[in-house]
Amino acid sequence: DVNIKEIIEIALHNVQKYANDKSIKIMVNCPEDVPVIRTDKDKLIRVFVNLLTNAIKFTPEEGEVSIIVEDHDNHLQTSIKDNGIGISREKRDKIFDKFYQVDSTATRKAGGTGLGLAIIKGIIDGQGGNIYLESETGKGSTFTFRLPKELKEDDFTEIEGA
Ligand code: ATP
Ligand code: MG
Repeated sequence: DVNIKEIIEIALHNVQKYANDKSIKIMVNCPEDVPVIRTDKDKLIRVFVNLLTNAIKFTPEEGEVSIIVEDHDNHLQTSIKDNGIGISREKRDKIFDKFYQVDSTATRKAGGTGLGLAIIKGIIDGQGGNIYLESETGKGSTFTFRLPKELKEDDFTEIEGA
């Protein structure tokens, strides 16, 4: 079982230097009593690190990034929000494809391979969740993912039989 607050702390530790270098503040808003979820800890850390790295990479200096966790009936919802360059409507559908990078000077300057979001989507889908993006060009982007709090029936059978 995984406590998402613990995951966030580890992820923050990973990206803090990068954020500091750009004087970007990272805010966290997570309920104290957030329930533990049954998911792969290392994979979830990777999701946070990748999303935070993107948020920092595509946000100008002195920007702001926030992590908002909400406890819903059947799932935990996490949003990672930045006030960076944003992603245009046409590009939004392609953003989770392997090797896709928005073709702009800002992106090319930022480097990377365009694999981060494809990996994240694979992890989230594989854990029975979903991820989506809201963005406005020039204003920022918010990536929101949901993970189920309970295992699905078929996952459960697998574990019982193990
Ligand atoms: P990698 O993650 O492999 O180092 P990358 O960051 O370019 O490279 P992805 O994380 O898959 O690749 O992101 C794909 C593209 O989506 C990015 O190149 C960028 O154009 C766009 N993008 C991702 N996150 C953001 C964001 N928070 N704000 C603006 N654009 C973004
Ligand atoms: Mg990336």
